[in-house]
Amino acid sequence: MAKILEGKEFATAIKENVRKKVEEIKEKYKISPALAVIIVGNNPASEVYVRNKHKACEDLGIVSKVIELSESVSKDELLAKIDELNGDKNIHGILVQLPLPEGIVKSESEILNRIDPKKDVDGFHPVNVGKMVTGENALLPCTPAGCIRMMELAGIEIEGKNAVVIGRSNIVGKPMLHLLLQKNATVTLCHSKTKNLKEMTKQADILVAAVGKPKFVTADMVKEGAVVIDVGINRIAPKKLVGDVDFDAVKEVAGFITPVPGGVGLLTVAMLMENVVRAFELQGV
Ligand code: NDP
Repeated sequence: MAKILEGKEFATAIKENVRKKVEEIKEKYKISPALAVIIVGNNPASEVYVRNKHKACEDLGIVSKVIELSESVSKDELLAKIDELNGDKNIHGILVQLPLPEGIVKSESEILNRIDPKKDVDGFHPVNVGKMVTGENALLPCTPAGCIRMMELAGIEIEGKNAVVIGRSNIVGKPMLHLLLQKNATVTLCHSKTKNLKEMTKQADILVAAVGKPKFVTADMVKEGAVVIDVGINRIAPKKLVGDVDFDAVKEVAGFITPVPGGVGLLTVAMLMENVVRAFELQGV
């Protein structure tokens, strides 16, 4: 029976550390780190995510500015807003909540790349991606960085382990590969064209699922005693979220497992808070 890695426990530890740093910054510089979140349109899931980020900021003494733009905003108007925030000395972190509405979604890269890399608290800017790949000091993407931090805080050794990541998105799967590699794991990245997926996952000491399909990882895909990190968030009924892992069956095989909800998602917000403080430090005063 696996040990359940409760996100709340680790997220609280990370946030308490952020709270202390924010207090030190306020004491020393008489200014609070500040995050600006741009939300475009009325996607209900995005509204919940933005509210959670806002609450976390308020709780930790970080200034939170939520900028709501209408669904019909043009790409140029959004870019102008980002330029304004880039130039605002009182804003230290900027993020544009995804997904963008249909009208501007094709410009997503251009929009995200407009954010000053030093304020890019989502870690999506190519400058930060490049630094992450080469192992330089970068703002790291929150979800994969949160998965690594959770394992470290739980005392799980990564070095020398076989890690398998399912999913190769730019926001989860690919950065997960690089961060595991930096921690000296031997990493295999699987995706929808991977042949014999089960043979791969059965080799994993650490298995990360970032697929977006409910209960995709079944018990027969998991090695006895493996660490199973479930990044997936899938809504299967109005009030029911499940991960990418068949939790009830896999917890009988795995050594460690993250629940959904209550797992990786909480770490994502905590790491975002940490990134706001890191962004403040990167910018200097
Ligand atoms: P994407 O849809 O961008 O990527 C999904 C990946 O899964 C793709 O690389 C795809 O492969 C792969 N995939 C799909 N089907 C299969 C299959 N049958 N076998 C193997 N691989 C497959 O999703 P994201 O990475 O953005 O998100 C993944 C999940 O994580 C979602 O549920 C999302 O909601 C959740 N999420 C959770 C966060 C959190 O804070 N906990 C934050 C971000 C995301 P291919 O590239 O070949 O199409």
